Amino acid sequence: MNLPKFPRQFIRKEDEPGYQPETWQPKWHCFCCHDTGKINPHLAKLVIEEYDLSKDKIPRCQNPSCKAGDNLDFLGSQVVDYRFTAAICQHLDSIHREEWRQTTETKTALVQEKIAQLAQQKSLKKPARTPSEETEIQEKYAAIVDEYNKKP
Ligand SMILES: [Zn+2]
Repeated sequence: MNLPKFPRQFIRKEDEPGYQPETWQPKWHCFCCHDTGKINPHLAKLVIEEYDLSKDKIPRCQNPSCKAGDNLDFLGSQVVDYRFTAAICQHLDSIHREEWRQTTETKTALVQEKIAQLAQQKSLKKPARTPSEETEIQEKYAAIVDEYNKKP
């Protein structure tokens, strides 16, 4: 029998051929809890009014694609808030994803503006003379000197 040929499967996506790191790509996968299992306080506040990180139970992330919340389960329901369902976490994830996208766009726009400003500053500086410009200037100078010398 002929052995099959498998394409390579990389553990880290950075090793994949043609991988391009995205600027400002966050390190986390879950936008609900940043892979900590604890829902982001500012997101928790969207559901629990006056939510206080230091006083309230820990809102546990139940995003279906996220397993980080498992790390909190040993604390039990005395400490962990299990009311945030998968649907809520998915919604919070998409809200924060959108916030992140907008922040990234703003940052990109700012950087592009800076680059444009720098380019403009550069073009305001006198460019170096080309050899032909240099010759032209010398010829003009010589002509002026010549003209001056002819005068009595
Ligand atoms: Zn999560």
